[in-house]
Amino acid sequence: MEAESAGALAIVVSGPSGSGKTTLVKHLMLRYPRSHFSISATTRALRGEEIDGVDYRFLSREDFLALRDAGGLLEWAEVHGQFYGTPRSEVVPHLQDGRHVFLDIDVQGALSVKEALGERAFLLFVLPPDLATLEGRLRGRGTDAEAIVALRMRNALAELARLPGFEAVVVNRDLPAMVDDALALIEARRRNLAAWLEDGGRDFVREAFGVELAQDR
Ligand code: 5GP
Repeated sequence: MEAESAGALAIVVSGPSGSGKTTLVKHLMLRYPRSHFSISATTRALRGEEIDGVDYRFLSREDFLALRDAGGLLEWAEVHGQFYGTPRSEVVPHLQDGRHVFLDIDVQGALSVKEALGERAFLLFVLPPDLATLEGRLRGRGTDAEAIVALRMRNALAELARLPGFEAVVVNRDLPAMVDDALALIEARRRNLAAWLEDGGRDFVREAFGVELAQDR
């Protein structure tokens, strides 16, 4: 049985730009081969080697707002002056299919996903090891102007301050160790009681023992 076939989760990986969250998601997806990566919609311009439909769905403002107004977005936010959103179709059908869905979205979006999906969502925060490394990573991309780096740095620290709203955290000191930590957290979360109850445990207790469990824990 594949690891994720029971108790599929929307695993939301957030943290400051430059924290290494995108790399973390790539490595986690190798460990869960059936999992799906949620491709966000955005109004920002395509960067570098990005491909439409692979990295993002690049939409005009008009198309983005039409999708949002039609109820097609699970959450959306304005980040760095551009719209970003998670299409419902990138998450819900895959969870129903028993696949983990990975989301690489900002902190605001993560909290909205939690509101929308409850126990089906798992919010994981990625912390860079220190300030100098964070700044180095933001510069290391080399694609952005100085003013943009400074803006991202301010936003990064503001995002970092919202860590307490998350369910779990990993510190990116060393990639393999961070991946192992994240895997352990995901597996522990899948065994969490509330997730188990939602995932058929309540029905199991009713059918096997004739006991109806209360909704509140
Ligand atoms: P970038 O433009 O560097 O790819 O992303 C900028 C920020 O937008 C990042 O913090 C990224 O996580 C966030 N982001 C990407 N997709 C989404 C989304 O669908 N919803 C939200 N709320 N944020 C997103």
